Amino acid sequence: MNKGKLIVFSAPSGSGKTTIVKHLLGQEDLNLEFSISAASRAPRGEEVHGKDYYFISLEEFKKHIKAEDFLEWEEVYRDNFYGTLKSEIERIWALGKNVIFDIDVVGGLRIKHKFPEETLAVFVKPPSVDELKRRLKQRSTESEDKINMRIAKASVELATAPQFDVIIKNYDLPVALEEAHQLVKDFISKK
Ligand code: 5GP
Repeated sequence: MNKGKLIVFSAPSGSGKTTIVKHLLGQEDLNLEFSISAASRAPRGEEVHGKDYYFISLEEFKKHIKAEDFLEWEEVYRDNFYGTLKSEIERIWALGKNVIFDIDVVGGLRIKHKFPEETLAVFVKPPSVDELKRRLKQRSTESEDKINMRIAKASVELATAPQFDVIIKNYDLPVALEEAHQLVKDFISKK
């Protein structure tokens, strides 16, 4: 199979990486397709099965782990498992497209280590932990408890930034979007 490129976007929850990934998916010159992860949590808000995630039960998730169906998986938050199915990458490469991932820092670095040449690993840095808190509260899709869990994890995640190929500072969204577009464009045009 002709391998495309792998573009990983990782960051603490609330950094704006999903917004950046969605923007890039709309840029035809990048020929990107979103890697739909499997997740054991319930859909939030407008999320759709088979578009945002493959929402599966914890039991089903564990069956996939046992069968070694995942390229990587992670218990990102307690009892919330997320993972990239090997079949997902094969599906996208078969379409002749590049894969873009919106995944946690551990999963992102794992993909980079598995495919060092094909992967561009990007870390999206929020202005501050206080700003993260504000954004998560504004989003108000999670309970106070869950928000606190995500914030507690953010400092650990921020410490992994230097292990990525590039860091994009998301202080001003239009600037971050433009920078992300250029980075991905340069990377996919390399042989
Ligand atoms: P959320 O519940 O906000 O959609 O996602 C929680 C975290 O899990 C985010 O940091 C998201 O990027 C990450 N995530 C989503 N899919 C995957 C995946 O396939 N693997 C890993 N390791 N993390 C993922």
